[in-house]
Amino acid sequence: MTFSCEICGTEIEGRAEYIAVDRSKLRVCKACVRYGTVVVVEAAQPKAKVETILSVGGEQAQLAKLAKSKKRLYEQMDYEIEEGMEIVENYGRLIKEAREKAGLKQAELAQKINEKHSLLRKIEHEEILPTDDVQRKIERILKISL
Ligand SMILES: [Zn+2]
Repeated sequence: MTFSCEICGTEIEGRAEYIAVDRSKLRVCKACVRYGTVVVVEAAQPKAKVETILSVGGEQAQLAKLAKSKKRLYEQMDYEIEEGMEIVENYGRLIKEAREKAGLKQAELAQKINEKHSLLRKIEHEEILPTDDVQRKIERILKISL
């Protein structure tokens, strides 16, 4: 039987981890353990343990509480993701305009920042977000702030 992570939905390979978030308990993958406090469960019968907890206070109330905890978690995750990739909304257009102003072709700029032409094209089309590293290089070469 396979479980999926109750935070990110990934199928958990091997042993599932259990964490406590606000008083709810979530079964999560190893990557999501950091979002809560790890709860130690006997490896032999994790399912029985979870059911015991769910039966306390009625399933409905427990589920509502769980939904609330998860919502808060997602908000926290969004926040963390945004922090890592701070970039203006119209970055693609800004890069394209600055590049053209500098008289550079896509391939030429790609070469200057040491990245693939296809990567730069996707960034200009805003199909992907540049990594912090690529973003910094583009900003430096084109003298713009994204
Ligand atoms: Zn996960």
